Amino acid sequence: MRNSSASTIDRRGVMLVLSSPSGAGKSSIAREILSKNSEIELSVSVTTRAQRPSEIEGTHYHFIDQKRFSAMRDRNELLEWAEVHGNFYGTPRDPVEEALSAGRDVLFDIDWQGTRQLHERMPEDLVRIFVLPPSIDELKSRLERRAEDSADVIAKRLANSALEMEQWSEYDYVIINEKLELSVARVQSILDAERMRRDRVVGINMFVEGLINQL
Ligand code: 5GP
Repeated sequence: MRNSSASTIDRRGVMLVLSSPSGAGKSSIAREILSKNSEIELSVSVTTRAQRPSEIEGTHYHFIDQKRFSAMRDRNELLEWAEVHGNFYGTPRDPVEEALSAGRDVLFDIDWQGTRQLHERMPEDLVRIFVLPPSIDELKSRLERRAEDSADVIAKRLANSALEMEQWSEYDYVIINEKLELSVARVQSILDAERMRRDRVVGINMFVEGLINQL
């Protein structure tokens, strides 16, 4: 019988969003969470931004031109989209819907504008975490250490960080990223707890019935 043992209970996937100002360390947290959890996959965004030397097409982003981006947006192929630091970014709809319907979790590294759109569309699936830097000095030095962006790109990102940080109160959880391992452990506990929310564990009724029937 389906759902007769605890390990076969179906659950709805979690849509886990990580947002932060550029340089707060959110991508490192995302990388660690992905490597520790086989049931979660990264939503790979499309972007019109230029590819950084360390980035791999299809792994970090799908790098596309403005024309293709507009076409995808107009065909409603993006679950959300936004202009961030002068470039366009968007979440392709199909992979997210496929993952969720298969009971897998999806991790989103997107900004507050996109998070707001996802929240309007699928509030019950979304878990929003905002990552703050421990200080502005640390934010600056992380941006500079990355050394893949030009000085004017770094300056633009720093200038935008005030507006981004002001959005923290729209999120469910806030993490101050002082130490990577600690932040990863905190995101992991949020994910573990959210996976067990009663309304996500869709097969629990049959499981409880099965338990009771054995009495
Ligand atoms: P970066 O250029 O540093 O990779 O990303 C810049 C910002 O765009 C980051 O805050 C990142 O989270 C955000 N971003 C990346 N992909 C998407 C997306 O698909 N949608 C939205 N709304 N923001 C995104």
